[in-house]
Amino acid sequence: MQFNVSTLLQEPVGSTRLAEVEDEPVAVPAAGYASTVSGRARLMRTQRGVLVHADLTTHPALECARCLTSFQGEIRLLIDEEFVPLRDPVTGEAIEADPDEFRIDGRNHLDLSEAVRQYEQAALPIQPVCREDCAGLCPVCGQNLNERRCDCEQPEPEGAWAGLAALAERLRTEEHDGSPEA
Ligand SMILES: [Zn+2]
Ligand SMILES: [Zn+2]
Repeated sequence: MQFNVSTLLQEPVGSTRLAEVEDEPVAVPAAGYASTVSGRARLMRTQRGVLVHADLTTHPALECARCLTSFQGEIRLLIDEEFVPLRDPVTGEAIEADPDEFRIDGRNHLDLSEAVRQYEQAALPIQPVCREDCAGLCPVCGQNLNERRCDCEQPEPEGAWAGLAALAERLRTEEHDGSPEA
């Protein structure tokens, strides 16, 4: 997703542009990254370059941590970054910047793709799920339980449920002999 900021760079500090984007493709081929974004962006001329405020939703391809199915995720990104041109738009002199700063290229194209990729990377869920109630895969036969049940015996419940089951078992025993042992 690129914005041509040739004109904006000729304008005084504080000048702004608003842009609405809908299903714009973003891609960083070197990082093997591709997605689409929707939302809005505000570009403001600063002393050094252009400050971008963007409220975007990306749709990365994710894999469900439970059922391993690929699905299109939805992640909201609030981007706030200054982009520095390679050359001063008035004098044509090269502008120095830190290696991790975002740059506006020599044709005055401001490309948000790398920023989107980085912000998305930071916002990705560690365990994405295709839907809240995803039933996952059968741990025995691997059947996707969202599609159909299988006949496998499910393993004993663990954690809190196991604790509750043990408690219920003990209460039942106590009812029977009436004299619980510590
Ligand atoms: Zn799933
Ligand atoms: Zn099974």
